[in-house]
Amino acid sequence: MMPVAVEETPLLRVTDLSKQFTVSGGMFGGGGVVRAVDGISLSLERGETLGLVGESGCGKSTAGKTIMRLYEPTAGEILLDGRDITRLSVRELRAVRRQVQIVFQDPFSSLNPRMRAGAIVGEPLVIHGLVRRRDLADRVAELFARVGLRPDQMRRYPHEFSGGQRQRLAIARALSVGPKLIVADESVSALDVSIQASIINLMMDIQKATGVAFLFIAHDIAVVEHISHRIAVMYLGRIVEIGTRGQIISMPRHPYTRALLSAVPVPDPDNRRDARIRLTGDIPSPIDPPSGCAFHTRCPFVFDRCRRERPELRGSAEGHLAACHLEDDAARA
Ligand code: SF4
Repeated sequence: MMPVAVEETPLLRVTDLSKQFTVSGGMFGGGGVVRAVDGISLSLERGETLGLVGESGCGKSTAGKTIMRLYEPTAGEILLDGRDITRLSVRELRAVRRQVQIVFQDPFSSLNPRMRAGAIVGEPLVIHGLVRRRDLADRVAELFARVGLRPDQMRRYPHEFSGGQRQRLAIARALSVGPKLIVADESVSALDVSIQASIINLMMDIQKATGVAFLFIAHDIAVVEHISHRIAVMYLGRIVEIGTRGQIISMPRHPYTRALLSAVPVPDPDNRRDARIRLTGDIPSPIDPPSGCAFHTRCPFVFDRCRRERPELRGSAEGHLAACHLEDDAARA
């Protein structure tokens, strides 16, 4: 994995970002406000991969889409390359969209089924006026080669590709405009394990060659572990732990992170990383989240203070932060 050069202005800085949705309660009433993303802060360096992990419904995909301004933020600030993009108009956002691309879990939803693969990959180049007509086919063929597809596949339609190949197509389309950041939103989650590995390796090769940064969103910490320089763990709309890959995988501090890691299958059960923490029950509703620490309804270490007081992210100078009251005991020790 390439080391990341840290510059003064990070590529992305997100501060206290929130996204709320108002939901109606249907014929029985009782709607409410869903705090899908509840005040998250994170940064991403050029050429870095930040893994964003948590169970379904924790708000990680909403966070990715809000950072891209596909959803309007309810509060907070998003700086891209030092520029505040939080409240840009739709017209001003056009230029930003070139710099930040997204690859979804299901490419069928993002790849036009009636367009040939070559046209799908070349379309953003045409829209943004980045290529002369006569150079378009060569440029698209280069992009096909970069993601491991053959030039003769340019004439095929999306349904003629396998799931992994469709993700390669989606990556080629995202790469076509030379983005600085790609948001990979559960991009490998629907694929078989061996195909997942090949797509992740492709992303890492692309990062090495182009210096693009990834915000890599997934529910499986084992998948995130392989590709990420740093990892942020989300629970009910908030980041509960963030640190380097080594810190999160080898020295997890938050009970939720430890539970996610203990659920990862290992060849030797005696070597399970933290067999004591089992995650039971579902993630609570974000419409009516638990008081205090949102994880207290599932945490094996819960004590009185957890139900009353919400823990803030805190931690070491090395950037390893966790939101858990047990951190106070650790600090005292
Ligand atoms: Fe568990 Fe309490 Fe820490 Fe929350 S604050 S993770 S309930 S010990």
